[in-house]
Amino acid sequence: MNDLQKRTWAEISLDGIRHNYEAIRRHLPQGCRFLGVVKADAYGHGALPVAKLLQEAGADYLAVSCLDEALELRDGGVSMPILILGHTPREYTETLIDRGITQTVSALAKAREYSAAAAALGKTLRVHLKLDTGMSRLGFLCAGSYFDTGVENVAQTCALPNLEIEGVYTHFAVSDEPGADNEAYTRAQFRLFCDVIAAAEARGCRFPIRHCANSGAVLNYPEMMLDMVRPGLLLYGYGDREGKLGLRPCMRLVTTVSTIKYYEPGTCVSYGRRFVTARRTRMGVLAIGYADGLPRLCSGRCSFAAGGGFAPQVGSICMDMCMADLTDLPEVQVGSEVELFGGRSSIYALSDAAQTIPYELLCAVSKRVPRVYL
Ligand SMILES: *Cc1c(COP(=O)(O)O)cnc(C)c1O
Repeated sequence: MNDLQKRTWAEISLDGIRHNYEAIRRHLPQGCRFLGVVKADAYGHGALPVAKLLQEAGADYLAVSCLDEALELRDGGVSMPILILGHTPREYTETLIDRGITQTVSALAKAREYSAAAAALGKTLRVHLKLDTGMSRLGFLCAGSYFDTGVENVAQTCALPNLEIEGVYTHFAVSDEPGADNEAYTRAQFRLFCDVIAAAEARGCRFPIRHCANSGAVLNYPEMMLDMVRPGLLLYGYGDREGKLGLRPCMRLVTTVSTIKYYEPGTCVSYGRRFVTARRTRMGVLAIGYADGLPRLCSGRCSFAAGGGFAPQVGSICMDMCMADLTDLPEVQVGSEVELFGGRSSIYALSDAAQTIPYELLCAVSKRVPRVYL
């Protein structure tokens, strides 16, 4: 990046992602496959560079959210298996097949549509079936009184022509949350997943790849890793607050000081006049705002690593800028770097201030913010 253009950027450590991939790999049982989740532009880290790294490092599968994300990877030269976790309209069945993309099937009606479309082309679509065991989002309903119809629908799907059922999976709602109640819920989801598979296999279904472990389960329920794990957040270095796996954060969000001014006590700062200086204040204007991905909800509730300390952010965060009190950090000058997260500044402090989770902050780093690969 041209130094003159330095405004705000996200440093991405591909070495860090490789390190995390290898650390997670070492934690897997023998023979367990690794699917890297690279949806949402690899949680803001850049889908193509991350996918290429995982392909080269020997990962088995990638997952994305939708067809556009899958095609971006194929067009970029990624040849390894890719699973689409979300819905794809049946009109795109030929594209899925021709580009070698695996589609999730989450209901019998959709399975019939894909089967009919593939049959009309004289081709076969590779699919993974998704079971809803308690997330209550996509998937064959099979909890509680839906068990028998769930198994029946899965069995009917397995019998459809022109579909290759390569895998079956489910998704956990609280595998990353502590507490006995959450543990019981996760174990019940897992038991139901296994029970549906067993009942479907008794009816002739075969599922070469069974998978359910997202980041939370990889960390907290290693016995649930089955044939493949499906981590996203861990790959990017977050989600393991106890440091069990020794992961490294891979994105460092950095901005710069645009200008510095001194204000007398009683000066109103930014939209809404929500901050008024209590002392003579050396105020920095930072070149980052909510259009870059810094949530406005953080206004006045966070501080950023700068110089030898931390600068409290004050006043409403604007679209392209925000203010920070540099009075106690005389070493911070115009052009100095200010770190929002990823190094000395914790992403958890910022996500708490924004009443959200690290996932959302990573994905929110906008297109305007250049990714600088280290
Ligand atoms: C996003 C997603 C994952 C990855 O979740 P993490 O918590 O980031 O590990 C895994 N499986 C499915 C179905 C997902 O949608």
